[in-house]
Amino acid sequence: MNDILPPESALWEWLEEKVRAVMHQWSYRNVRTPVLEHTGLFVRGLGEVTDIVEKEMYSFEDRADKQGDADHLSLRPEGTAGVVRAVSEHSYLYDGGKRLYYMAPMFRRERPQRGRYRQFHQVGAEALGFAGPEVDAEMILLAHELWQQIGLKDVTLQLNSLGQPEERQRHREALIAYFQANEDQLDEDAKRRLHSNPLRILDTKNPAMQELATQAPKLMEYLGDASLKHFEQVQAILQAQGVKWQINPRLVRGLDYYNLTVFEFVSEALGSQGTICGGGRYDYLIEQIGGKAAPAVGWAFGVERVLELVKEQQLVPAAKSPSVYAIVPDAAALPQAMALLTALRRMGVAAQLHTSADSAQGMGSFKSQFKRADASGAAWALVFGTDELARGEVALKPLRHAGEQVLYALSNIDALAARIQSPIAQ
Ligand code: AMP
Repeated sequence: MNDILPPESALWEWLEEKVRAVMHQWSYRNVRTPVLEHTGLFVRGLGEVTDIVEKEMYSFEDRADKQGDADHLSLRPEGTAGVVRAVSEHSYLYDGGKRLYYMAPMFRRERPQRGRYRQFHQVGAEALGFAGPEVDAEMILLAHELWQQIGLKDVTLQLNSLGQPEERQRHREALIAYFQANEDQLDEDAKRRLHSNPLRILDTKNPAMQELATQAPKLMEYLGDASLKHFEQVQAILQAQGVKWQINPRLVRGLDYYNLTVFEFVSEALGSQGTICGGGRYDYLIEQIGGKAAPAVGWAFGVERVLELVKEQQLVPAAKSPSVYAIVPDAAALPQAMALLTALRRMGVAAQLHTSADSAQGMGSFKSQFKRADASGAAWALVFGTDELARGEVALKPLRHAGEQVLYALSNIDALAARIQSPIAQ
């Protein structure tokens, strides 16, 4: 789990602002759900035989209430189950489909490594109550647009269709038969999954099983007309916007709840943890966790991984500095200086006050205050000199461009604010 301090946190804010702007343009509205949920929600939602539920959740038994019943709770390992629970609990789809997004911390007890943490953050989007392929496509385009706005390069889109449950069932039988016929080549993990979740064997990272997985029966060959048509329409919409993709028949995603379209955005630049965003359609999840059946599509991207790419590709935005740094030679001037700074801030000026580390030492010399002003990155120093203040004036001095200091009357802070906010010749 990581601490995120400045200047790193400025990157997070920059990304969050981009996300909010894009979500607003695409009509996705913000949803916030609790960090803790009943463990059963994730067991029902994600599937019992998934890595997350089997071994990665932070789960605990709550204190017993008066009747002696204790809740089994878990820190959320992902966002969709909680959103779906909230939507059902509030009958939120009563008047039609909804588009939602969140930015939130998630928790998985995985082996920490680059791009893999135990508390990490996801931005997720969910479109609930819409069945058509245009929504699958909209979701993919939405994520794609985020990469454009951030400036990410070399992110590839992988697509697959998992079909409908009955199509998967027929494929599953074929898959079990195939793996059984080749049982001597299966590793322990695969043997364990053979009957519980054979589809996941296709996802194996074991190099010795790659060939076996590649030759396995393809789900695509078991899809019916409706599923194929759905998938084709998704691709037609992407194609019309010049979005490129690769079909990856082995893309099955780690969670059980998907059907029809599934997708991932992958980067080569991140080593083994190259998936930055994953998602798909989950038409049966809402009913599965006890809500009224409704179709849905969603994705989530990992903030840490996207920021890793942002740094890797040197897209880091310039640090935000204050516009003005207030130099106060004598502490007696602080009440007046701070009142003026409050007024300037209300007018939209970002202002930083000089503060001393040790009040017994006073405010520090002019020279040391100017040194700090310089280090703050501010364009201007606002000097609250004792003599000037006595005349009802402050001095504005440019720190990063040529020019003399100019005196402004305290009674005319509009002019002062306007000067600070004016474009400065570099
Ligand atoms: P998932 O919910 O597993 O499909 O994950 C969606 C995205 O969240 C992934 O593509 C990653 O970018 C990110 N992610 C998942 N697990 C972690 C983790 N342990 N640490 C950092 N990012 C993660």
